[in-house]
Amino acid sequence: LHDKFEAEHHLASVTADGERISLLLNAGLDLSTEHLSAKYCDGVGLYRTEAWFMQRGQFPSQAEQENWYREVLARYHPEPVIMRTLDIGGDKVLDYFNISEDNPFLGWRGIRVTLDHPELFLDQLKAMLKANAGLGNLRIMLPMVSHTEEVDEALALLEQAYFELQEEWADQFYTIDKPDIGVMLEVPSSIFLLPEWADKVDFCSVGSNDLTQYLLAVDRANAQVAELFEPYHPSVLRVLKKIADDCQQLELPFSLCGELGGEPEGAILLVAMGFRRLSMNISSLNKIKWTLRRLAVKDMEALLAQCLAASSAKQVHRLLREFMIAQG
Ligand code: PEP
Ligand code: MG
Repeated sequence: LHDKFEAEHHLASVTADGERISLLLNAGLDLSTEHLSAKYCDGVGLYRTEAWFMQRGQFPSQAEQENWYREVLARYHPEPVIMRTLDIGGDKVLDYFNISEDNPFLGWRGIRVTLDHPELFLDQLKAMLKANAGLGNLRIMLPMVSHTEEVDEALALLEQAYFELQEEWADQFYTIDKPDIGVMLEVPSSIFLLPEWADKVDFCSVGSNDLTQYLLAVDRANAQVAELFEPYHPSVLRVLKKIADDCQQLELPFSLCGELGGEPEGAILLVAMGFRRLSMNISSLNKIKWTLRRLAVKDMEALLAQCLAASSAKQVHRLLREFMIAQG
């Protein structure tokens, strides 16, 4: 065994006072190893489909996508796999699809691109629905949504894909099901529309990387301002708390799949806020499970209350440091 974290990788993901926390995998980047510990997690909370598109020389056909998605779904079955529709633009470029802009992070990104190219979107949705036939563990997630119309248009295209496949697949053994569909919360405007979206979608997941970038107006990829990219900024924490409160009130299932959930301090604060599902890179999984198993929710809540009242990220970091030292 490599370390103390790995020694407990097979144990349940529960806090010291018995609260179950689902830990899921962020996948799509490292195809060779990331599935190895899949049996000790609760599925895939974010499958970045664009990573596969980025390794290729041209758009994959619908049939190629179908094979690929089925392999992924089968690998984690029966645990759920949340596949995100193509999230290109910003920092994620395809060599064969030119996007050239002055402000790519504020430009043609994520759902904006695929709604402007419904043929790409429909191809991907159909490939996903077909891959899911006979398996049933697919969930679909939409990146970068910021307007209600985007949610509506994406849902309409999913409906179209579903009905077209119903006809196409009329004489197949397996039937096509409609999977749960969710939105990423990563543009600040999305948070204030949750009451309107809660009836339209089945779940949401916070993309804390982009949410931090857009809330603080700090390019997540710019080394010059890297110190200002601060997910422990009190404003970010207060927004995350609002998301947890609002989703609970709306009875909308919610999770987080940004890097913050893979940091012990971040996971502690998120659990204290009410998050019970966190999705992270495979390298964080054992460490987060180990950390949460040693802490009681009420102690995490006391820490959170202090952090939410802080006036600066520096102060939050000091509180977190003191807490970690006190907990050993
Ligand atoms: C995020 O923005 O937090 C996220 C999970 O998506 P990505 O890092 O792929 O943009
Ligand atoms: Mg993002």
